[in-house]
Amino acid sequence: MRASALFLTLVATATLAAAEPPSMDTLRAKLEAAMQDAHAVQRAEPAPAKPRRAAPAKPQPAPNKPAAAHDAPHWSYQGEGAPEHWAELSPEFALCATGQRQSPIDIRGGVTVDLEPIAFDYRPTGFSVLDNGHTVQVNVGSGNRLTISGKRYELLQFHFHRPSEERIDGRQFEMVAHLVHKSDEGRLAVVAVLLQEGSVQPLIQQVWNALPLETGMAQPAPGSINLTHLLPEDRRYYTYMGSLTTPPCSEGVLWMVLKQPVTLTAAQIAVFSHLYPMNARPVQPQSGRLIKGNAE
Ligand SMILES: [Zn+2]
Repeated sequence: MRASALFLTLVATATLAAAEPPSMDTLRAKLEAAMQDAHAVQRAEPAPAKPRRAAPAKPQPAPNKPAAAHDAPHWSYQGEGAPEHWAELSPEFALCATGQRQSPIDIRGGVTVDLEPIAFDYRPTGFSVLDNGHTVQVNVGSGNRLTISGKRYELLQFHFHRPSEERIDGRQFEMVAHLVHKSDEGRLAVVAVLLQEGSVQPLIQQVWNALPLETGMAQPAPGSINLTHLLPEDRRYYTYMGSLTTPPCSEGVLWMVLKQPVTLTAAQIAVFSHLYPMNARPVQPQSGRLIKGNAE
């Protein structure tokens, strides 16, 4: 990465961190990870194959970044960085192998109960789009919340996987959007919106329109988005306790997987798969966890 590009990345990091004080650490960590991955992409792929990636350049020393950040491992979905090797890449990733409450899972064999509705409180907010080298991530402005079990969570970001990481009775979907929320106490709650081919999804089109030309830099997008428009009409869901599906695979994450998929067109799927043909972690053992779901 050229020094100028690195500088811009650092500016983006600072800007984002400043815009979202509650998630500063999370964002900083994510962006640092994104920078690492941008380095990996440059080393692994010559420029002509992927013109939208930054041109390969000898990494320059970055005096204002800790050296350790440059030694961070590179995780991915295939080859040496594939999910089965995540735990070997860093001691911090140990849970990816040893955890007993990992995500994603194949949702089956749960109990049917009357689940409390998820109280979504989403509103139009500004957003920026980041290709972090693992997925397309949308950072949203503050003020988007949900309440469940009397606890309030704030939406930090959402991102995509192809195909869907979670399965329902073995069925995998074309894609999934993960809406990542955090409570004041730092607890994470992720809402999964399954995506299948069908009619156009205007909110996703807004995101694709704002895709940055380079990885590792969050690009502020024009206008605002209202995540209510990404939710299906039917808000019934499955819920279980799991983990982040990417390193460090931290556990204690409340998962709520909405049962009704929303649609996007084949052309919209093609945009994402051009960047990420496969970025889904394999399903993990249920290990006797309770899964609850609303009646059909
Ligand atoms: Zn995810």
